[in-house]
Amino acid sequence: MAKAKVWFADVRPKEGLYAGGLIHKAKDLFYEAGISDCISKGDVVAIKIHIGEWNRTRCLRPEFVAAIVEEVKEMGGQPFVCDTTTLPYHIFNSRCYSFIEYINAYRHGWTPDALGCPFIIADGLVGNDDVRVDIPEGLILKETYIARCIADADVLIPVTHFKAHPLTSIGGAIKNIGIGAQSKRGKYVTHLALWGDPSEALGYPLVDPSRCKGLDCPYHEFCEKACPEGAIKVDKDGLHFDFSKCNLCYSCQVLCLFTAGVGAIGFRAEYFPAAQIAMADAALGCLKTKKPGKVGFISYAVDIDATFCDCFPVAEMPACPDLGVFASKDIVAIDTACVDMADNSPIMPNSKAEEAGLKPGDDRFKVTSGTMWTPRIHLKAGEMIGMGTMDYELIVYEPKETPETFGKWQINKVSGVIPTVKLSEYYKTLHPLREKYTPEKPPKRVSTKEFLEVLLKKMPT
Ligand code: SF4
Ligand code: SF4
Repeated sequence: MAKAKVWFADVRPKEGLYAGGLIHKAKDLFYEAGISDCISKGDVVAIKIHIGEWNRTRCLRPEFVAAIVEEVKEMGGQPFVCDTTTLPYHIFNSRCYSFIEYINAYRHGWTPDALGCPFIIADGLVGNDDVRVDIPEGLILKETYIARCIADADVLIPVTHFKAHPLTSIGGAIKNIGIGAQSKRGKYVTHLALWGDPSEALGYPLVDPSRCKGLDCPYHEFCEKACPEGAIKVDKDGLHFDFSKCNLCYSCQVLCLFTAGVGAIGFRAEYFPAAQIAMADAALGCLKTKKPGKVGFISYAVDIDATFCDCFPVAEMPACPDLGVFASKDIVAIDTACVDMADNSPIMPNSKAEEAGLKPGDDRFKVTSGTMWTPRIHLKAGEMIGMGTMDYELIVYEPKETPETFGKWQINKVSGVIPTVKLSEYYKTLHPLREKYTPEKPPKRVSTKEFLEVLLKKMPT
C-alpha cells in the first residue's frame, strides 16, 4: 500500500496572527486534505463527535466542529453532528440513553445554535436503532451494528479529540467510529460481550472477592442493581458472583473499577489488546456503510489527557503539549501520525509521563493510559484488515499571511459583513464618546504626562 497523506497544522500561529489560529487551520485542512471532495451537493453529512462526559473539561469544543459544519454547508452538504448512546462505563455516566445524553450535550454547548446544524443521538433513545454490517475481513469480529443515522448518511466526517484511553490506550479516529459509531449492541459486540460459550469470552469479569469491601462499600447496592442478570450479591460475607448468569454487560467491572475505585471485579490483561483489535474491526464495519471517497477524518490533538478519555468526569494532566489539527482520508494513518507526534513531543511537567520517567520517543500512552499495551496494536490491526496504513507522509501546513489569507476565516459568514466596517457606519452618527465629549471637554482622567512620569513609575517592572 502506498504511503497515506496526513496533513498537520501546528497549534501555534507560526507565520501570522490572523491566518494561524487553530480553527482557521482546521478549515484550511478541510480543503487541503480534500475532505471537501467527499461532499456532493445535497449530500447528508454525518459529523461524528464525542460530546464529553458531564463535567468533563478536556473534550472537544463546539466551535471546533461548527467550523467544519460551515465548510460542509459551503460545499452544498446537509450536515448533522452526532454521538451515540453508550454502555454503562461508570455508574453515573450521562450518555447511556439519549434523554440524559441530550441534556449533557446541551450543557456542553452541542446545540443547533452553536453548531449551525442539527445535533442528534444517532442510535435512538436506548441505542437500538442500527444497521447490521458483515466484516469477514475482521480479525476478531465478523459482524457489527452501526448507528442507523450514521449508516444512512451519504458522507461521514469523524471529528475526533485525540487523547489517551484507559481501555484502548488512545482514543483517536478509529475509536471515534470503532466504538463511537456503533449502536448499543454494536458496542456490546465490540467490547466482546458474551452470547455463547463462556470459554470464548475474553472480557469475562476477573473477580477477586477478597478485595471486595462488602457492605462497607458505599456502592454495594448499586453493584447488585446494576447487574441486569442478577449475577451479583453482596452481603455480610462479601461478594458472591454467579458466572453462569453473567452476559458480560461490563456494568460491574466499570462500577467497581471506576466508581468504587476497588477492582474486586475487573478485566483480565488479555482483554485490553483484544478490545483494541475488535475496535479496529468494528471501525471497518462503519466505513463499509459508505461509498468509496465519502469519508474524511479531522482530529484535534489538543488537551491530550494522559489517561482518561472523554467518557470520564475527571481529567489528568496532558500527556504532551497541545499539538494541533490533523486531517486525512486514511483512518489508520491519521491515528498513527497523532501517536507518533505525541510520543516524540516534550514531556509535560507534573504529568504521569514525567512521574514514570518517560522520555520523548518512548511509547507514551502504553504507560500513561495504565493499560500497559501499546496503542499500535489497533493501528496494526487496522492495517491488517485493509482499512488503512501506518506508513504515512506528514504534510506540515502553515498558511502564509497574505492579503487573501489575512482574516479570511474571521469574516462571519452568517452575517456576511465585516463588523468593523459596519460599525464605522454607526459611528458616523452614534459615536458613543462624541455624543458627550469634545476635544475641549474630554472625559476626566490623569494627563498623559502624569501617567508617564508619575503613575507608570510606581508600577512593577
Ligand atoms: S463495587 Fe466492588 S467493592 Fe463495592 S460491593 Fe461491588 S464488588 Fe464489592
Ligand atoms: S458483567 Fe455480568 S455480572 Fe457484571 S453486571 Fe454485567 S451481567 Fe452482571
